[in-house]
Order: sequence, then structure tokens, then C-alpha cells
Amino acid sequence: MQNVSEPHDWAREELRALFDLPLSELLFRAQSIHRENFDPAAVQISTLLSIKTGGCPEDCAYCPQSAQYDTGVPAEKLMPLDAVLAEARAARAAGAGRFCMGAAWRSPKDRDLDAVCAMVEGVKALGLETCATLGMLTAAQAGKLKVAGLDYYNHNLDSSPEFYGEIITTRTYDDRLQTLEYVRAAGIHVCCGGIVGMGETREDRVGMITTLANLPVHPESVPINMLVRVAGTPLGDAPALDPLEFVRTVAVARITMPKSMVRLSAGRESMSEEVQALCFLAGANSIFCGPKLLTTPNPERDRDRELMDRLGLSPMR
Ligand code: SF4
Repeated sequence: MQNVSEPHDWAREELRALFDLPLSELLFRAQSIHRENFDPAAVQISTLLSIKTGGCPEDCAYCPQSAQYDTGVPAEKLMPLDAVLAEARAARAAGAGRFCMGAAWRSPKDRDLDAVCAMVEGVKALGLETCATLGMLTAAQAGKLKVAGLDYYNHNLDSSPEFYGEIITTRTYDDRLQTLEYVRAAGIHVCCGGIVGMGETREDRVGMITTLANLPVHPESVPINMLVRVAGTPLGDAPALDPLEFVRTVAVARITMPKSMVRLSAGRESMSEEVQALCFLAGANSIFCGPKLLTTPNPERDRDRELMDRLGLSPMR
């Protein structure tokens, strides 16, 4: 998927200059690169299921699943295999090509990992691509997931190296990069992006995209999330970010990682359809479908289908 000649040595000044372009120029450049690499009318559709919700020991300031914040999200046990497979069948029937399973763990225990491996095998047997997000992994755990048939592992960098410590204190940026290295070394595709609207500066957004674009291999999927402000989390009252700044972030991700799938992830529920259309113009070509993203709301499938019809977009096969 990766072209070795793609640049992986982006300088922050270059990204700053991209962010500073007039919006029409930025969108033109992003859309031109998008067309060189993808069918501009095709959007990859993923479904995300929380297989183990709440009670997480980490302190990610945006997350309603952290046990450190009182958000009303109950701590649940790992879902049984047959219930996960029933959800995967429903997602496939609704047009999803990829099924992502998320668990609110700091890192999986080996016993839990065996259960997740059985889920990966089952979902794969349904003809869906598989993705998991389970927290930090060891090299051996990444190897086991690969053997089970895992196609993608999601582990986000969240923000710039400088801002990261304002958001999470229970694990470091380097811990995250280490897990990404293990995943890559195991031969699993990497899904890695971040969140905007957490009170970071534009320079932090520049720093986040620069870090992603300078990974030795670009992540195959780059989710760009708009913060969903959840009451009870430290970011519950964060000031809203200008949606056009979100569009710019998507465009710069597209330009600097031309062959990656750039995904509109959390925060679409509160975005106007016009802003979502601008994001597609900026080179986004993947969305999460389904009424929930782990624990926060997401547009209903019918609304997504109607929006895609109005924009003339079709699911990527
Ligand atoms: S984002 Fe993940 S690791 Fe952080 S608190 Fe939420 S579930 Fe835990």
C-alpha cells in the first residue's frame, strides 16, 4: 500500500505553511492528491463495537470510560463471543466492510487477549476486515493477534508530543509509539490518528500531523476525531473548535499521507452536513457508521446513507 518514495521527513514549517493556506487553495491541493490516489466518490465504512466498556484505569481527559471520572458509564465485562458475532453480522448486512472492536483497557491480560483472538477469527470468517483497539500491547500480544487474523490495530497518538501530557498522565507518548512499532513489526496494519478540539493550539495540530506523517510507514488509516465533550470528564467544558479548523486538519493529513485512509471519526454527530461535505472534499474517505462510537453518539445509519446519496458517494468495496 505504501509508496517508499512518499515523503516521511516533513518539517513542521511545511505543515504550518499548509495550515496557513487560504482554505480554497488548501482544499484544492488536498482534493488533487486525493484524486491521484483514490476514487473520490468512494468512502470506506467501518463499524465500531465496544466489546468491553468502562472502568478503564487510564486518565485520558476526553474519555467517558475512564474510571477516574464520574460520567455515568458503567464498567462492564468483556462481551461474549456469540454477541460480538451477532453485531458483526448486522454490521455486514448494513454495508460495513470493516468491523472494529474496542476494549477499555490499559493493556489486555493474556486471558482476555485469547478471547479477543477468538472474536477476530469469527469476524474474519464472516468476510469482514478486522480491527481492534485494546490499549498497549507487548510484541508477543501483537504477534498473537496477527496469527488470529487481525488486519488493523488502532492506537492513537491523540495530539502533539508537547500537548499530550496535558491530556494523559498514566502513559507516555513513547509508550504509544512503542505499541505502534510492535503492531507494525507483527505485520498488522496501523490505524493511528488523534483528536482535535481539546484546547490544543494550531501548533499542536501541526505537531500531531507531522508526527503521524513522519512515522517510518504511514498509518494505513488515520482517524481524525473532533472532541465529543462529555460531562464529567475534564474536557466536558472545553471551548468548541472552529469546524473549519477541523477541515484544515483533515486536508493536511490527506496531503502529507496521500495513500492513507483518512477517517472522520468521533464528533460527526455534532457536525453539520456541510462541514462533513467539506471534509470529504478535503480528502476524508472513511467514516464510522452506526448509532454509537464506543459510548458517544454517532449519526444513525439512515442519516449517513441519505447524506452519502446527496453527496453522490458510495461505499468502497
Ligand atoms: S481512551 Fe482508552 S485508554 Fe484512555 S481512558 Fe478511555 S478507554 Fe481507557
